[in-house]
Amino acid sequence: MILVAPGVLPPARLTRPCVSPGATLGVLGGGQLGRMFAYAARIMGYHVVVLDPDPHSPAAQFADVHLCAGYDDQAALLDLGKRCAAITTEFENVPARSLDMLAALSAVRPAAAVVAIAQDRITEKSYLAGQGFPVAPFAVVRTEQELRAALGNIPAPAILKRSRLGYDGKGQAPVTNLEHAVTAFHLWGDEPCVLEQRVALEKEISVIVARGADGETACFPVAENRHQDGILDVSIVPARISAALAQQASGMAIRLSERLQYCGVLAVEFFVLADDRLLINEIAPRPHNSGHATLDACVTSQFEQQVRTLCGLPLGSTRLLSPAVMVNLLGHLWADGEPHWGELFQHPQAKLHLYGKGEPRPGRKMGHFTCLDESIEQALAAALEIKARLLKRAATSAHTKESA
Ligand code: ATP
Ligand code: MG
Repeated sequence: MILVAPGVLPPARLTRPCVSPGATLGVLGGGQLGRMFAYAARIMGYHVVVLDPDPHSPAAQFADVHLCAGYDDQAALLDLGKRCAAITTEFENVPARSLDMLAALSAVRPAAAVVAIAQDRITEKSYLAGQGFPVAPFAVVRTEQELRAALGNIPAPAILKRSRLGYDGKGQAPVTNLEHAVTAFHLWGDEPCVLEQRVALEKEISVIVARGADGETACFPVAENRHQDGILDVSIVPARISAALAQQASGMAIRLSERLQYCGVLAVEFFVLADDRLLINEIAPRPHNSGHATLDACVTSQFEQQVRTLCGLPLGSTRLLSPAVMVNLLGHLWADGEPHWGELFQHPQAKLHLYGKGEPRPGRKMGHFTCLDESIEQALAAALEIKARLLKRAATSAHTKESA
């Protein structure tokens, strides 16, 4: 199918094959990232099918169809492949085999081979280092013997990270001595790991780059990220770094997307060292938590961009409309019931996003909010104040209930 759009765009942008609104798109994974993808696709006029084993999938609330089945369920995959003109994924831990199977039935973006790299830290770090991208010193650990040898090359303090299925700092153990490392390794059932040097971070930043099927690329403004207990807490956009460093990080993300022959939205997490050197921490073949501010602060959100790359549409503008600060809302804020949203709504430039999750477990990402303002300092001050007020109200009502 060829898109014939009204004529303000340069001719080259009109001739690529694309999946037009009205078609059906699929997404593997029905969490918050799938939900925001589904929402972006629906408002653009697409139909959406979500595959997720969770009957309470947040994405299903915005989808036309929810296939409630496992990611390796052959019948469900076949159904998904037949229904959809193009399929993407909300997370990297879907079996690459499932993506391969779907690729025989439909367009799958990003490709299974790239998702396979990002779902395994050993493959990911080896790929990045092999391609000449800077990463923290690391060693591959598959046996206790390799672990002992690795500690010779990567002295403590270090971090032992499971190679697969880690997120939000889970599957990571700080290593201060050999005994720690061996205990963690055995606790995880001798699963393959990487031992990584703990580096002195000046800052953490991330770049989200979109690359179309024809090689067009566009980066969102660099985000500056603060973590708490291994989970992203606050993203500040634009990052408070020099223009030269922002350009360097974006350039690296673009080069990586080109090297991977990537099609889709790719997130690249960086460590910034004291001398402004950049190291790539990890990559995610999908929209990223640190890109949620784009929903309210950019001409095109990272989720609309995901739809565009998936469908072969031209990329949207990533221009920042306003400085913005995003704060994650985790389950403990619900410890005493629904948070006091009045504290947030009082602020006219705060935007609330809730993910429709029923069970607010501690540490679970339940939603986020974004504060826009004229300067990044004002946006940050407002965001931190709202966060503090919400936490205080939650603590006060928990205390009142306890003493009643
Ligand atoms: P997420 O899902 O939030 O991206 P993750 O479980 O994939 O997290 P990482 O990104 O590897 O894990 O690490 C989580 C955080 O731990 C990093 O953002 C950083 O703050 C810290 N960290 C990880 N590796 C290192 C390191 N080598 N040196 C210093 N800090 C580190
Ligand atoms: Mg990370």
